[in-house]
Amino acid sequence: MSERRRRLAGVNEQRETDLGRKRRARRMARVLAETHPDAHCELDHSGPLELAVATILSAQCTDKKVNEVTPKLFARYPTAADYAGADRAELEVMIKSTGFFRNKTDSLIKLGQALVERFDGQVPRRLDDLVTLPGIGRKTANVILGNAFDVPGITVDTHFQRLVRRWGWTAEADPVKIEHAIGALFPKRDWTLLSHQVIFHGRRVCHARTPACGACTLAKLCPSYGTGPTDGAAAAKLLKGPRAHELAERAGLDPALVPARAVAAEAP
Ligand code: SF4
Repeated sequence: MSERRRRLAGVNEQRETDLGRKRRARRMARVLAETHPDAHCELDHSGPLELAVATILSAQCTDKKVNEVTPKLFARYPTAADYAGADRAELEVMIKSTGFFRNKTDSLIKLGQALVERFDGQVPRRLDDLVTLPGIGRKTANVILGNAFDVPGITVDTHFQRLVRRWGWTAEADPVKIEHAIGALFPKRDWTLLSHQVIFHGRRVCHARTPACGACTLAKLCPSYGTGPTDGAAAAKLLKGPRAHELAERAGLDPALVPARAVAAEAP
């Protein structure tokens, strides 16, 4: 990212004050909300136990694949006690397609046991309790709090980490420090939805290797504009997901530039 581009984006990270960064971050968040009005938790669930299980399965696996597996799984194991007493071989077969199935089976059984032994079979609604559970780290705990309990939480996954650093919202590298730094920029009530909107953008537009800068609604506010192709036609091919046409249009491009394979592409 050249200094010229940073200036064009109105960003001088050396000189940007905390208030300036907060204002710019909030402007970007407003654009994000308009860009991804469909942002939501992409793991299908009905209740905290199902979300905890789905989140454990989502490690190194797409949400789409997890959603293919969970309907049968949730029907077979409706309670924490069912996971605690599960037949390991049977559970392994049910979740095999999500990868790392032996470790995940272990986590699910131990999660069930811990819930039964320490929390009366219920998923607790406090971060401090959630992070003591097998297979549940701080990221997963925040997903559960925000989406199953309506307790605001910031989900610092790989997309979130990449994007907030690209945007100069924080220079922190440690997920907990990132969580606190971003939390200070936005009202608490916005944390959960903002997390989804950032992750949606990371999956559909601002990819890790080649972001679609020329087809991005944040281009004017982003200090990393130019990390990926800025040419509209080249960038439009990089958009992903069923709303790719609309994303291109919102970025001021002709939606016809988006190829069918981009629309069909699975957001990672
Ligand atoms: S796609 Fe490019 S312009 Fe858009 S947010 Fe990512 S780095 Fe910035």
